[in-house]
Amino acid sequence: MGIEAKSLPHKNTVDGYLSQLDFEQVNDFLLKLFEFCQESKLFYNHAETLLPNNFFHLGVDGFWVHHYVKPHATELGGWNNCPYCLPRVHNRGTPEEKTTWVHVFVTFVMIFPGGMKLPIYVHPLKATQVNTGQSDDKLKQECELIAAHLVLPKIRKWLPKIPLTFLGDSLYANRPMIKLCEELRLDYLIVRKQESLASVGRECDELACTQLYIKNYRTSEVEKIGRDTVQRQYQWFNKIFLGEDLYTNVLRFSETVNSTSPYNNEWLCSRSIHAANCRPMAKRGRLRWNQEDLHNTLKNRGFAAEHDYARANPHLWLIWKLLMFIAFFIFELFSHTLAAIQAKGSRSWTRFAMSLLEQLVNIPWSLISSSTSLQKSRIQFRYLFDTS
Ligand SMILES: [Zn+2]
Repeated sequence: MGIEAKSLPHKNTVDGYLSQLDFEQVNDFLLKLFEFCQESKLFYNHAETLLPNNFFHLGVDGFWVHHYVKPHATELGGWNNCPYCLPRVHNRGTPEEKTTWVHVFVTFVMIFPGGMKLPIYVHPLKATQVNTGQSDDKLKQECELIAAHLVLPKIRKWLPKIPLTFLGDSLYANRPMIKLCEELRLDYLIVRKQESLASVGRECDELACTQLYIKNYRTSEVEKIGRDTVQRQYQWFNKIFLGEDLYTNVLRFSETVNSTSPYNNEWLCSRSIHAANCRPMAKRGRLRWNQEDLHNTLKNRGFAAEHDYARANPHLWLIWKLLMFIAFFIFELFSHTLAAIQAKGSRSWTRFAMSLLEQLVNIPWSLISSSTSLQKSRIQFRYLFDTS
């Protein structure tokens, strides 16, 4: 990269400082960055794009990183002393039985239309918090549910006033989660699949066959996008009983591009649905997919999420990982400015970031700080969001 080692502080010096930091304080920095965006009116000034129906949207997703074939932090006797290592036993009970370890984070991310995603809290799971004897899929679900029940109340306490919609996949389609959302005054759009809350599916199936629902509780549209013909169908059911004073609303959605097989989805919604709001509601529900893109970026686009930075020290490892999320947050904001988009040109974001880092290290600070833009008392960025 053209950066010489002598231009940077020694890794031991950096590690020595970082290992003194408190994990929660570093985590809080993500939220402080979010509050800074609020105070500088980023969301307010672009509310039409970023806040559909005036809502912020919060996604929760599990993120598996660092697969170890032997313990990475050990005490005398070789025992694994990393509290965040979740053991995975392969070929249990056979001569090939083998244990590996994985680290799991659950990320809480503000997801905006226009492609912007801002992580606001990261929860690392400890082996003592979950049943590590179950399959990967079940473990992933348990990690996410535990983290959501622990962290959502904290987030609501930090952000008591903003209108917030929780976007969840089908593992959140259960009564305790919907109850939690109601208690925390969180709106929700939660995907429901066949196996979860089956009684809801049955009730909607029965209603869908009645003349009343065929006539009044469905709508459709056809849209031409370039050469493609997109057909969408919406069907909704309000006030579906979940037991114990709990109700939900259900939106069924189907989309066919040209004559390919349809994409079907169903959301449980906190708000009543009608012909005028079913389209934006489905659009908002689909925002959740962007969170997976965040994890892909962290793994594959220059953030080196798989690298553990401080293998022998689990606490230091966590601090490094949080710095990665903070770096992502700042670069995500920057990458939506006109200045960044123009300066990047045809380069990839990763290459552009690398050349910025190279300049930051190689150009003397006295020269950078005397640049015209840094001489101004206030720097304003113009933001661009992809609304196509
Ligand atoms: Zn570990």
